[in-house]
Amino acid sequence: MSVVHILLAELELTGPGAVAAPEAHTVGSVLRPDLPLARDGWGNPYVPGTSLAGSLRQHAPRERRRDLFGEVFKDPDKNAENGREETTAIASPVRVLGTRLTLPEVPAMRRRRTAVDRHRAAAKATTLHDRELLPPGTELALWLRLDTETTESALVDEVVALLGTWQPRIGGGRTTGYGRAELVAVRHRVVDLSTPGGLRHWLTIGGPDLVDDQAAVVYERAQRAGGAPDEPYLFGMALEFRITDALHIGTGTFADRSGRRSGVAQILRDHEGIPVVPGSAWKGVLRARVEFILRSVGIGDVCISVEDGASGSCGACVVCEAFGWTERAGTMADDGTPAKTIGARGRLLFADSPVREGSVRVRNHVAIDRVFGGARDEALYADETVEDGHVALHIRHDKAVPDLVRAALVLALADLADGAIGIGGGTTRGYGSLAAQRTTTDWLTAERTTAVNTLRAHRTSEAHAPVHATEEAPA
Ligand SMILES: [Zn+2]
Repeated sequence: MSVVHILLAELELTGPGAVAAPEAHTVGSVLRPDLPLARDGWGNPYVPGTSLAGSLRQHAPRERRRDLFGEVFKDPDKNAENGREETTAIASPVRVLGTRLTLPEVPAMRRRRTAVDRHRAAAKATTLHDRELLPPGTELALWLRLDTETTESALVDEVVALLGTWQPRIGGGRTTGYGRAELVAVRHRVVDLSTPGGLRHWLTIGGPDLVDDQAAVVYERAQRAGGAPDEPYLFGMALEFRITDALHIGTGTFADRSGRRSGVAQILRDHEGIPVVPGSAWKGVLRARVEFILRSVGIGDVCISVEDGASGSCGACVVCEAFGWTERAGTMADDGTPAKTIGARGRLLFADSPVREGSVRVRNHVAIDRVFGGARDEALYADETVEDGHVALHIRHDKAVPDLVRAALVLALADLADGAIGIGGGTTRGYGSLAAQRTTTDWLTAERTTAVNTLRAHRTSEAHAPVHATEEAPA
């Protein structure tokens, strides 16, 4: 082991990133965001190296994972005398030395999310929580170390090739479009400890400076528009809608972008100030409708993920399989402490949709006094809305989605295009209605019949067997 290889992978976030501090899931505070960014001891946001190592490990072919990244496993060949399997640990040849985040010159982003109340088709009052986000353009450096016998190493070449095809997603919230990152460059510094120069470099230089100007650039991003290579579209394309009335997806605050209190409920905007429909809003509305559709056609065993008093998503039905699930927030364990967060990530991925060609207006409202008629005192309020714009809905998937959910999703989208369900706040006041653009209307018309037939076929076969989550899409 006389040659040390240091690899520096430079990544860039192409969308917002959510790297919540682990303590954030259990500690509530009114002073801080519910889901603050993980920070180091100096208060700077930071991404733990272990999460990146885990992502890179997942990206490696299954049969190479143990050789590259080590493993801790029960070894059946090493049965101890008492009959128990011994735990064997293989150290990882690829070691993560550290990470560093460099934030661009934009204010920290916060985003609020709510759960949907099915009966009011609007956000539930108590479910608002916000999340501190890393802005797009955040740079992330990752240092890796490999030790080999020689300066030429097939292992190093393999890791570089692996990095080159990596599509890392940093942090949480992946199914609602957070954490998309792209590899910008990989630098390789060989430190040959059998040479005086190499030894001096190793002994006198430490930390990030180990990768100096003698490092070779072994990967460089090709110049291309857009972000990281994306997962495939579920329906082969983005779906196009236009706003028929007005859309209000609030930030939950009245402070404008400069931080002043404006007295107007602000809409959500991206880092460039463009109004957006966040992936989480699409996902919430469509999930609620998919559950509703499957239950109303009598396909049982579909949970009600946002019903009052229910235990939250079940984790066993086809909807949970496609959309993911978590233990309901605020659930208490038997000893009164908040329960640990458990759950599984969904297969469907919903990206943020910027509103194109929309105009932002402020609408004034007044609450009506039901008893005396007329306006109630001190009941004037205003909200910002986006009007006349259009949005593209990007639904992607990274694993097979059950046929049943795909069919129900088509019908849910048809309901969205018909205005039967709306998106964002104030849907009971007529906000949030969308209409499909021509190509999407044609596609929905064509898909609808197939979707209805799929549900019908399941209903007949279900007389015998209940629908449970399966590994592959049911036939
Ligand atoms: Zn479920």
